[in-house]
Amino acid sequence: MTHDADVIIIGAGGGGPVVANELGEKGLKVLLLEAGPWYGNKKWPNPNREPGAVSDSKPENLSKEILDKYFTDYEDDMNDTISGKFRWGPADRSRSPWFRNVPNGGFVWQSSGVGGSTLHYFANSPRAFPSAVDNIWPISYREMIPYYEKVEATLPISPAPISTKEELFFYGAEKAGWSLLKTLNVTSPGYRPQPNAILPPDPNINDPNFIFDGNTVGCTLRTHCVNGCHIGPTVEKTAKRSTLVSYIPLALKTGNVEVRPNTFVTKILTETVNKEQRAVGVRYKDSWTGETGEFKAKVIVIAAGSIETPRLWLNSKLPSNPWVGKGLTSHWFDTVSGIFDEKVLMNIFGVPDAGPFKGQTSGSRFDYPGLGVIQGFGLSPGLHSSLLFTLTKEYNFLHKPSLEEPWNVKGKVVGQELKELMMEYPRTLSVLIFTDDEVNQKNEVTLHPLLKDEHGMMPVIKYQPNKKDKQKRDKLAVIAADILKKAGAKKILRADSSPYLFAHIESTMRMGHVVDTDCEAFQVKRLFLADNSVHYNSLGGPNPTLTTQALATRTAEKIVTKYFT
Ligand SMILES: Cc1cc2nc3c(=O)[nH]c(=O)nc-3n(C[C@H](O)[C@H](O)[C@H](O)COP(=O)(O)OP(=O)(O)OC[C@H]3O[C@@H](n4cnc5c(N)ncnc54)[C@H](O)[C@@H]3O)c2cc1C
Repeated sequence: MTHDADVIIIGAGGGGPVVANELGEKGLKVLLLEAGPWYGNKKWPNPNREPGAVSDSKPENLSKEILDKYFTDYEDDMNDTISGKFRWGPADRSRSPWFRNVPNGGFVWQSSGVGGSTLHYFANSPRAFPSAVDNIWPISYREMIPYYEKVEATLPISPAPISTKEELFFYGAEKAGWSLLKTLNVTSPGYRPQPNAILPPDPNINDPNFIFDGNTVGCTLRTHCVNGCHIGPTVEKTAKRSTLVSYIPLALKTGNVEVRPNTFVTKILTETVNKEQRAVGVRYKDSWTGETGEFKAKVIVIAAGSIETPRLWLNSKLPSNPWVGKGLTSHWFDTVSGIFDEKVLMNIFGVPDAGPFKGQTSGSRFDYPGLGVIQGFGLSPGLHSSLLFTLTKEYNFLHKPSLEEPWNVKGKVVGQELKELMMEYPRTLSVLIFTDDEVNQKNEVTLHPLLKDEHGMMPVIKYQPNKKDKQKRDKLAVIAADILKKAGAKKILRADSSPYLFAHIESTMRMGHVVDTDCEAFQVKRLFLADNSVHYNSLGGPNPTLTTQALATRTAEKIVTKYFT
């Protein structure tokens, strides 16, 4: 059989480019197929308006000018989930997004494109809690440490710089009696600066004479992480380390990796050899022309994210397995905010506002193994108000919180009340809650029995947290409110979000159930998975991408050892 590459990787998001780079470095020929567009490459000067080239493998084609032009920072242009550049949909923005069916309402927050959902991620890169891995996962936490270290050095990761919102969060956490954590391997509760995949600011940034020119390297603390970072002299030196600017340039530099955007894989091709089913190739559809074709390789890696990976398995009619698409976790988010008086802020910090739109999007965190995570954040006003005031069904004016509850406002806010609360935006400090939600086989990605799009049967996403998840989330919300009050907040708001905002989507193709400890599918040889879907659980609450990238590094090593030595 002739091969188009040694290894085909499907999906250039959090995990795919890591495998591509690791394999490229070992001399293997890699073809990386991505459903969405490629921003910041000369071969796609108008990535949303015309097809551009078919593929590219040359690092010299990366273009900072095009990245600057396309990453406009505007919330609507970048983040609108229907037509924004960071949507789940084709490059051509005049077409509708690709549909997902969430029967309870809500939405799945993912982005297609080279970089995938790391294009809009905050770049918070903590390790899993050891207690969520040891004696639970089929591999130990210790086994993952060298791979964490490798990714932390490659991205690279640094502690977030402290701006007002971080200072305020730490001030409150300390006053509430919590300790500062000084380790990456978190075993007890406490607060710490975020380990962020963001290049640190220039050391002279606070010097009034400092001039930002085209050569300045590092974050400029403008909180645009979620709107698409383009700060830096070149694509590969861009401050926020989405895989578009970190692992993709590295992979291209190996000379062995070809990236083909606008290519949606619709089927995994297999053959049976000696009674063993093996992956041998893929069928794809070009998302501009509609042209279909096939590519063959010795090994196939799916890194299409926790929704599309099981969907592709099911649409390809790969062997049935009771855990394919099952066990979805998503950290059941919540948001708690504190509104401060200007006077209080002046007294404590000598500044009149809480700086929700200064610094890195999220520079502070509080980890609580056994419960989950609380992390400070600041977003542009539209995203801020969506996360805080819209993600629930209950209206505050209909269900006022009781006097025993530690918040003054809970749930959806509309009308005059919303206007008044948004007037307080500059003096608002917000925190996100990530619950250590449990794996439940009923939380799932399945195929719709009737509805189909151009790529096959559509995915249906069902998720219902259990009683314990609710208790953990409520405990975290109480701790968050206490931290904000101790910091001096006069009014506390709780979003009490519904469970149907999916952003940290994990564990739908779990290690030990669908894939073995090398992340190779039990039932289809030469088929590996390298995205959030292989996580055994939700890591205890920490943000998932670093763990995916550490596992992807390890998986690449296993692929080489098993099939290419
Ligand atoms: C607003 C927001 C902020 C976040 N912040 C953080 C953070 O700070 N830290 C953190 O750890 N996590 C964060 N996350 C989550 C993070 O984005 C994901 O954990 C990470 O991107 C997952 O990587 P993945 O490879 O599993 O999937 P993705 O990054 O979604 O990548 C999958 C890729 O596969 C492509 N694809 C899918 N199907 C196909 C197909 N059939 N053919 C070809 N290509 C396909 C997609 O287009 C996509 O590019 C955030 C998420 C959101 C929404």
